[in-house]
Amino acid sequence: MDISGSYILLFVVGLVMGSFLNVCILRIPRGESVMRPGSRCPQCETSIRWFDNVPLLSFFWLRARCRWCGGKISWRYPLVECLNGVSYLGIVYKFGWTRSALVYALFLSLLLVVTMIDVDHFVIPDVLSLPGLAFGFFAASFILPVGWTGSLLGIALGGGILWMLAAASPYLFGKEGMGGGDIKFLAMIGAFLGWQHACMTLLLASCAGATFGIGLTAFRYMERGQYLPFAPFLAAGAVASLFFYRELFGLYETMFAS
Ligand SMILES: [Zn+2]
Repeated sequence: MDISGSYILLFVVGLVMGSFLNVCILRIPRGESVMRPGSRCPQCETSIRWFDNVPLLSFFWLRARCRWCGGKISWRYPLVECLNGVSYLGIVYKFGWTRSALVYALFLSLLLVVTMIDVDHFVIPDVLSLPGLAFGFFAASFILPVGWTGSLLGIALGGGILWMLAAASPYLFGKEGMGGGDIKFLAMIGAFLGWQHACMTLLLASCAGATFGIGLTAFRYMERGQYLPFAPFLAAGAVASLFFYRELFGLYETMFAS
């Protein structure tokens, strides 16, 4: 198969996986199985037939409506599928057809699921972050360039810094800051990427989160003291760090160390 053919196939695999991620996002917070039963319309509970369950295409084919009850299908389904497909393309473009790329692809899918669940429910389920952490450490020990020591430091530092911030924030800011879910989530990111990336992730996420929070408050989309889910910022920070660590670190140096 030529290059473009294999990239198209990769994108399709990303879309199909993205379709499964949508099931995870919907069911994991409810404590339901992600395997059984098959997909149903959330409104009329009719089982979705295979030809209405084609990633990306069915959404447009059905014009964003359930075939049976006409209930609206959220645009988030094709969005998640597309994001996952694009993630896989980006990973292979950056890391080649390697075993590391396979791990990073799964890592990005995990970030996507956690992000959407945090946006919907303001929680990061332990059932994702803790096995994710263990898998990250395992992959780092045998496959990823970071190695098991880097991974262990990533877990300790990623989790440790946020834990200290969480412990200190009632004194510093007079209110609870980080949730325990955020702590375990950054520890998981550290397990995959090591301590340098964990620090970069937190730096980027904090800047982006603060800017976004101030912006939303200024334009009155958000009340002061309202809670903003932090997982999307941590996930975006981790992706930016994974792809552009060297460039970002260079930028940091020219800003603060000249
Ligand atoms: Zn329906």
